[in-house]
Amino acid sequence: MSVTLRDSFGRSIEYLRISVTDRCNFRCRYCMPAAGLEWLPKSDILSYEEIAQVVRELSPLGLRRLRITGGEPTLRPQLELLVGMLRSIPGIEDISLSTNGVRLPELAGSFREAGLDRVNMSADSLRPDRIRQISRRNIDFDPIAAATAAEQAGLSPIKINVVVMRGINDDELSDFARLTIEREWHVRFIELMPVGEMRELTWDHVVPSEQVLRQLEEIAPLEPAAGPARGNGPARYFRFANARGTVAVITPMSHTYCGSCNRVRLTADGRLRTCLFGDDEVDLRSPLRAGLPLEPFFRSALSSKPKEHHLLQMQVGGLRALSQVGG
Ligand code: SAM
Ligand code: SF4
Repeated sequence: MSVTLRDSFGRSIEYLRISVTDRCNFRCRYCMPAAGLEWLPKSDILSYEEIAQVVRELSPLGLRRLRITGGEPTLRPQLELLVGMLRSIPGIEDISLSTNGVRLPELAGSFREAGLDRVNMSADSLRPDRIRQISRRNIDFDPIAAATAAEQAGLSPIKINVVVMRGINDDELSDFARLTIEREWHVRFIELMPVGEMRELTWDHVVPSEQVLRQLEEIAPLEPAAGPARGNGPARYFRFANARGTVAVITPMSHTYCGSCNRVRLTADGRLRTCLFGDDEVDLRSPLRAGLPLEPFFRSALSSKPKEHHLLQMQVGGLRALSQVGG
């Protein structure tokens, strides 16, 4: 008989986002302060073997899909070892990676060989000067080359996530969207969220998704689309006629997807978070290091998974940055 881990609202939990580090080589203006954050001590961070153990104990309870995230996960040395360990766990059908893409050209091949299925790459601009301005890093980075490297390594589908900020990158929406005409890429426009370090960004920078869609319709008519086969989560997908890829909007500010939320998060220091926006966490690291079975801790965490988040009622800056909780 198959067992399913359900929360108190009947949602089955089959998707785990695993943060492997809170550190990052970028300082995106909507995510981290310029000086960085107070980093977790190394001894608090779960080893690859500990992460794999959590997944081994969750997979018989219905866990099917994993996402490796951070911080910037590719900063963790030999991340392909973790990918390989997770790949060998029975029941895991899909492993994806969230990354800013900077290290994809050198690492995509080894990730694919180790068993990574696909990648979500964040890219908020295609213009070198603006990439430096948003990331606060003096780098030469070409997101198109990075996504191409991932595609050539066989990672599929390729999703590109763009956080839309009024007056900062909203004049590039059509450049991003046009990529989907020739390439089988899926460009997803995300509403800016009032979490973490947003002192420079205000509600005025938030561009509602409906406005994004209106801007895209000026390129050519959009038709609703099914989206790529795997891992569509809360995005709404559309396609230009004859385009190879899709465009999508993700509206975290509305409650529309809490009812079908099937995900939980593991922080880099081994806490299980049942909602991205909220403070409910259950410590798994202590029982793990004490050699205790984890199932009772999973069940206790799930019993407190909230019905929905209350982001709209919260103060800007009142929540932890996504880099700290594995966004
Ligand atoms: N470093 C990786 C990356 O950037 O893809 C993975 C971690 S990052 C925290 C995960 C996602 O969260 C990225 O797509 C990023 O753009 C998004 N994100 C972070 N802060 C955000 C905010 N305030 N509003 C909307 N999206 C945010
Ligand atoms: Fe780093 Fe990703 Fe946060 Fe940007 S969004 S600072 S790349 S963790």
